[in-house]
Formats: sequence, C-alpha cells, structure tokens
Amino acid sequence: MKRHTIEDKLAFTNWNFDHTYPHLTLNEKVCAYCTHHSCTYCCPANCYEQLEDGRVVLNYDQCVECGTCFSICDLGSVKWNNPKGTFGVIFRQG
Ligand code: SF4
Ligand code: SF4
Repeated sequence: MKRHTIEDKLAFTNWNFDHTYPHLTLNEKVCAYCTHHSCTYCCPANCYEQLEDGRVVLNYDQCVECGTCFSICDLGSVKWNNPKGTFGVIFRQG
C-alpha cells in the first residue's frame, strides 16, 4: 500500500481563507527574541519560513489548522482566531 507524503495529503486538501480575517498572526517583535524558531520545522504544511535576515514570516495559505504552531510557541507570538463559518481548510478525504 502506498504511503502518502505530506505533499500528497496537501494535494487532497482545499482551502477557503478569508484574508481579511487572518486565523493566525505573528508578533514580529516577539519572534525577534526567539532562539529556536521551532515553528519553522514543526508546521506540517511549511507555513513558516526564516528569511536570510533572520525574520520569521508566516504564509498560512496551506495551513491545515492543526494548532501545532500555537502550542509550541513558548513566547506567545502566535495568535489564533477560529476562521469564520464556511472559511478555512476543507478536508476532502478523511
Ligand atoms: S512564532 Fe514562536 S516559535 Fe516561531 S519564531 Fe516566533 S517566537 Fe519563535
Ligand atoms: S496551525 Fe498547523 S498547519 Fe497551520 S500554520 Fe500552525 S502548524 Fe502550520
């Protein structure tokens, strides 16, 4: 039986994000004090990236709303707002 990769699983997924109402935000001033940047390797959808200048940026366009980044950010930089009705990730297979 074929084992699906994260990339395969993301290909089975749809999103309907309301970009006027972000469900995730970062506080860049807080992130500037972070020494581990664990969000950049814990997010299963690679939504976080550390730029060459050291800043961490978030692009939640493929976020699967697992909550990992919110849980592991020990500095409280990540803020979570539940998406409004009909918006957010749409799982098509399980
Ligand atoms: S979001 Fe949290 S874990 Fe990620 S860089 Fe900012 S402070 Fe660090
Ligand atoms: S909720 Fe999950 S998928 Fe979305 S950005 Fe955070 S870790 Fe990534």
